[in-house]
Amino acid sequence: MPLTDFYETKALTDDQFEMRSRVLLVDDQLIVAEAFRRMVADIDDMEVFYCSDPARAVEEAARIKPTTILQDLVMPGMSGLMLLSLLRSHPQTRNVPIVVLSTKEEPKVKSEAFAIGANDYLVKFPDKIELVARIRAHTRGYLVQQQRDDAYRALRRMKLELERKNSELEALSCRDGLTGVLNRRGFDDFLNKEWLRAIRERKQLGLLLIDIDHFKEYNDNYGHQGGDECLRRVAFALGASLKRPSDIVARYGGEEFAVILPDTGIDGGAMIADSLCGAIETIHVPHAYSKTADHVTVSIGVAGMLPVTGDTPEDLVDLADKALYEAKSFGRNQYRCSESSGNTVVTSD
Ligand code: GH3
Ligand code: MG
Ligand code: MG
Repeated sequence: MPLTDFYETKALTDDQFEMRSRVLLVDDQLIVAEAFRRMVADIDDMEVFYCSDPARAVEEAARIKPTTILQDLVMPGMSGLMLLSLLRSHPQTRNVPIVVLSTKEEPKVKSEAFAIGANDYLVKFPDKIELVARIRAHTRGYLVQQQRDDAYRALRRMKLELERKNSELEALSCRDGLTGVLNRRGFDDFLNKEWLRAIRERKQLGLLLIDIDHFKEYNDNYGHQGGDECLRRVAFALGASLKRPSDIVARYGGEEFAVILPDTGIDGGAMIADSLCGAIETIHVPHAYSKTADHVTVSIGVAGMLPVTGDTPEDLVDLADKALYEAKSFGRNQYRCSESSGNTVVTSD
């Protein structure tokens, strides 16, 4: 790259970043302020502010928003080290580079200043080239850091916004974002449609409610992400086991799934529940903290109805729920059936 291009590229970069230095000088001696002001008068990218009272320095800095603070060490009213620690503890000046400008040259004083949080230490009065170069370097470092922080915050805001939009979309859609199967809304729509069809065509309607056993322990021990992965694997195994295109699996909530079985009675439902328990057995997701087995298992409540006008889909869900409760209380890793015949409920293995 020719030298001229190099300088042009560099100038463009500086321009883009708007690396102007805003310097706040805190020093009780007006003469120092005057000397400094005169020294940098011809420096175009530098603006100078002055505060003679250290007690007001934090407040002034918060207002001026300097990119570098130059401060004296010996001032009446407040020691420079005290001012340093105040500037370091205030949220608006915590990260602003501070250059101590002092007459003291002792290493002990310097090391104290650095320990409290000074970024640089210059003995009064440094040569112009050195002072300007240091201020520019501190300004650049500070502004680049600020830009990184701003970009990071903007990214976080965008991520949160995206997550919010996604969950809005998910609520509007019928698919569960985690597992890809129907969500609760999709389940309700599908069940209502099949319910009406079953009444119209005088066909049976089967429903399975499937609950993962000891899933709290799974989450607690393998972490929430591990739990999510387990939910995905279970959902996939359930879906893959269903043969008829009209049978569908849905995520009913949390770690509960539902399978709707059109034109299927309690016996057909029991067969499918049996094969689903087998499918979960086959994928064999290790679960060392389950009290039932050494792998993830499910309990299933099976219900079947020949619905007539006056019954509601909730009746079918209630039946499946009761059967699921029984499967849990009989030891989990099994299915139980509830069949509606008039007002009686028959439960069988
Ligand atoms: P049981 O054998 O009686 O069903 O016990 P359980 O531990 O499976 O049931 P419980 O209702 O006590 O706990 C369900 C757990 O499922 C608690 C909850 O943190 C977890 N869970 C619900 N939804 C999600 C999810 O989307 N992701 C993950 N990782 N965990 C979930
Ligand atoms: Mg549950
Ligand atoms: Mg459970």
